[in-house]
Amino acid sequence: MIDRSDEIRSTRAPKLNEDQIEVLSRYGETRKTEVGQVLFRAGDTTNDFFVVLEGEVEMIDDFAGEARTIAVFLAGRFLGELNILTGQAMYLSAVVRKGGEVLAISREQLKEVVTEEPNLSDIILKAFLARRSYLMRTGVGLRIIGSRHSGDAARLREFAARNRLPHVWIELEEDPDAEALLEKFGAKPSETPVTIWQGEDVLKNPTNAELARIIGLKVGAPWERTYDLVVIGAGPAGLGASVYGASEGLSTLALESVALGGQAGTSSRIENYLGFPAGLSGFELASRALVQADKFGARTAVPEKAVSLKREDGYYLIGLSEGGEVVARSVIAASGARYRRLDVPRLGLFEGVSVHYAATEAEAQRCEGKEAAVVGGGNSAGQAALFLAGRTPRVYLLIRGDDLGKSMSRYLLDRVTEAENVELLPNTEVRELMGEDRLDGVVVEDNRSGTRRTLGARALFVFIGAEANTGWLEGAVELDERGFVLTGRELDNSALEEDAWRERSREPYPLETSLPGVFAAGDVRSGSIKRCASAVGEGAMAVRLVHQYLADTGV
Ligand SMILES: Cc1cc2nc3c(=O)[nH]c(=O)nc-3n(C[C@H](O)[C@H](O)[C@H](O)COP(=O)(O)OP(=O)(O)OC[C@H]3O[C@@H](n4cnc5c(N)ncnc54)[C@H](O)[C@@H]3O)c2cc1C
Repeated sequence: MIDRSDEIRSTRAPKLNEDQIEVLSRYGETRKTEVGQVLFRAGDTTNDFFVVLEGEVEMIDDFAGEARTIAVFLAGRFLGELNILTGQAMYLSAVVRKGGEVLAISREQLKEVVTEEPNLSDIILKAFLARRSYLMRTGVGLRIIGSRHSGDAARLREFAARNRLPHVWIELEEDPDAEALLEKFGAKPSETPVTIWQGEDVLKNPTNAELARIIGLKVGAPWERTYDLVVIGAGPAGLGASVYGASEGLSTLALESVALGGQAGTSSRIENYLGFPAGLSGFELASRALVQADKFGARTAVPEKAVSLKREDGYYLIGLSEGGEVVARSVIAASGARYRRLDVPRLGLFEGVSVHYAATEAEAQRCEGKEAAVVGGGNSAGQAALFLAGRTPRVYLLIRGDDLGKSMSRYLLDRVTEAENVELLPNTEVRELMGEDRLDGVVVEDNRSGTRRTLGARALFVFIGAEANTGWLEGAVELDERGFVLTGRELDNSALEEDAWRERSREPYPLETSLPGVFAAGDVRSGSIKRCASAVGEGAMAVRLVHQYLADTGV
């Protein structure tokens, strides 16, 4: 029998052979190490990538004076995490436990390795991704202390989860030591949610941007230059556009307001993405795309929200939420969509606690071993139901209509109906949420007979369609009645009577909005197919059209 735990360990901490180390040594230099030497500290953003050649190095989580060893690396193993490639801060410190020698490779050189050495690149990337998953489960990094009733605490937890930021949630109502911990860091329960980073940086109810800045998650970009292409949103469409834009020679910047990967980043397993027969997580897809975009020279600023768009002298000015603007010759709107909320009393009370709009590892951990209900008949609902079926004793899948086959892909439908612990409830709607501070049950109603039934679900997952993220485009480009961006032939002639069109003798290109040179790709576009592959494809296609626009405009 194959021991999967060994396989997982060897992905997370692979031992490089002599040949592989020989290749890597061309990119770095060897350095002697001594016991107690710190190779990098949690919070560092400029550290090197290290391979242990001789001796031992331990990875430590140090919080409030309590140092915990998370891993020990011996000769042949390399240190580090995805953040070495993204330029974000390290979560653990690396301390030499037994002196010897390391191979040190700078971040820039490591990027060369990723580009030039495909075999090594694969081993390193896989290990980095596996390590991040491990850290997410291990309870290290940022501490978030707050009440389960607090919307701001839910916001910060969502931000941490969507960015796959290793963190520990300390609930005031549940953890008897929470108040003492707050006191130790000079905070009161009334000032929560409080975040503590590296056992020293304490923030009281920070904004996402403030938190991102202090923990080194924020990655900026030079704002003063004029970019050939600015992409708004870094979900599959935006990341696709960034990779194609930069690889085809356009100076490209992507702005992302929350976390790379967009909705896809919240998916625990995407199984229908071409070329990945075993499926891949949204985080893995986004991380790989980010490394690829970076390799071609695309800049990605996170979290950075676009709040407005205006045209001036043939250029586009994109206003930023924290002030300032960035100038572009062309724009791809890839700001996607977000899921709709159920119209049920007291929903807000449970959101972020027992009501979720994504089914990732973070949500699954919160309802492990308890029954869950999933609302929705699309592919995301089906995936969520299957994923949760592996973690909870029973999953109720609620749909308003009578036929799941109308909205769900066949392959998913088959698996959902075959799963023994998934109970499909057709013609069913949620009427009441039971419980005071956590969900104790869900009252549902058969919309034909009016019969009500209480499900013992302790968590509710909602996947009932989407609203467009187009607030920043209002008044700038034409939107359909639901707020999605109109493009190409969907635009009516009145939109094209504006000055910007009169000076050119052509119709809008496919994917082009009512502003020439502003394109829309992915879920934000009216009539789009809500799939990862189509979003990536539209991102690539929009770049092709940007080239055409730039060629005939000459800006
Ligand atoms: C749980 C789940 C599972 C899914 N599983 C699958 C699957 O298995 N297969 C499949 O094909 N599809 C799946 N989908 C659908 C797929 O994820 C989407 O179709 C796809 O993500 C759309 O990509 P996008 O880039 O157009 O938009 P999004 O993924 O919505 O990304 C848009 C990004 O723009 C950012 N943004 C929004 N406004 C601004 C602003 N003003 N400034 C800066 N940034 C902004 C958002 O934060 C977001 O990150 C799933 C969706 C979900 C939610």
